[in-house]
Amino acid sequence: MAGSGKFFVGGNWKCNGTKESISKLVSDLNGAKLEPDVDVVVAPPFVYIDQVKNSLTDRIEIAAQNSWIGKGGAFTGEISVEQLKDIGCKWVVLGHSERRHVIGEDDQFIGKKAAYALSEGLGVIACIGELLNEREEGKNFRCLFSTNEGFCSWDNVVIAYEPVWAIGTGKVASPQQAQEVHVAVRDWLRKNVSAEVASKTRVIYGGSVNGGNCAELAKQEDIDGFLVGGASLKGPEFATIVNSVT
Ligand code: PGA
Repeated sequence: MAGSGKFFVGGNWKCNGTKESISKLVSDLNGAKLEPDVDVVVAPPFVYIDQVKNSLTDRIEIAAQNSWIGKGGAFTGEISVEQLKDIGCKWVVLGHSERRHVIGEDDQFIGKKAAYALSEGLGVIACIGELLNEREEGKNFRCLFSTNEGFCSWDNVVIAYEPVWAIGTGKVASPQQAQEVHVAVRDWLRKNVSAEVASKTRVIYGGSVNGGNCAELAKQEDIDGFLVGGASLKGPEFATIVNSVT
């Protein structure tokens, strides 16, 4: 890893689970042996956050999968940063490709949400990543920080590079492909923010990470951890990924 922070592994449970299956997953995670020097975060669906918070070991922090752009109020169906903090969330995942490409969120909207969450003290797992046709056109990463001027601080930002063609498809980026983009993200940070932020910010990889491919990916110098979807729904496999830190 090249970022100076700890290895960081997030489990994005997406829109999966029931009270029963989540209780089993939590008990597997509570019983798992996790490397101490790794930040571990899970993002349950909103409706189960309280259940998870009340039953999961404090060793693992909780993230939400989305948050509203500003203070709560008359915004039907939305959940505010203040409410997330109230139930014990420390992080929020923003800009996930499913929010961008299925729900239609754009860079600016995501940038504003990220700025607001950071200003309220929530950590942001900010996702970026190219579509297959963008990769073929040589645009190997999309940057979401078109509104980064609004960020009060980068201390609580983790960037997740998740090539869209690798998410949930079983087609993981090769360690070299991921490493190349992570270096490009760090260069972007150096040019557009500062050398300090470029060296401190953790850049994690997501897209079909599993217990079998995590070790090779984790060896890459600029991969500072993972954002895991499908494999995070299996406690023992998620623990293997957490423990792949090198
Ligand atoms: P996946 O999802 O691990 O199932 O590919 C990753 C993600 O969407 O964060």
